[in-house]
Amino acid sequence: MEFRNEILRGKISRIKPLSKQKGHVKIYIRSKKCEEEVIQARKISVKNAAGEFKEHRVEKAKLDFEVTYCYKCKKLGHVAFKCTDKSAAETCGRCAESHKTQDCIHPDSKMKCVNCKGAHKSGDFQCSAHIKAVERLRQLLA
Ligand SMILES: [Zn+2]
Ligand SMILES: [Zn+2]
Ligand SMILES: [Zn+2]
Repeated sequence: MEFRNEILRGKISRIKPLSKQKGHVKIYIRSKKCEEEVIQARKISVKNAAGEFKEHRVEKAKLDFEVTYCYKCKKLGHVAFKCTDKSAAETCGRCAESHKTQDCIHPDSKMKCVNCKGAHKSGDFQCSAHIKAVERLRQLLA
């Protein structure tokens, strides 16, 4: 992939296609200043397979949504198909017991996070384990 934009040259650390949305890619930018410039410009020109430059809209991705969660055991850092949890049932994302989150009958006061044992849903953006994972991602991309 080639960029026409001067500000992006040599500053891309990774480009990942988003399979669900056709034509969407995720761009990891090394420099904070460059990231701000791209977001401010709101578009970049990228050369396509036919050799012509096309303008693309830019949106800032939130690292909060980049953290990997397992929908089965509700733990951080892996996806369900790589889950090593052998129990038959899903772990509840509200109370951390063995049942589906949507079947949970416990009140909010019984909420328990699988990752930090705190009184909130597993996967909560305010969770200390989640915040640490975001910080790790930020360092990986720096
Ligand atoms: Zn899991
Ligand atoms: Zn529950
Ligand atoms: Zn937590």
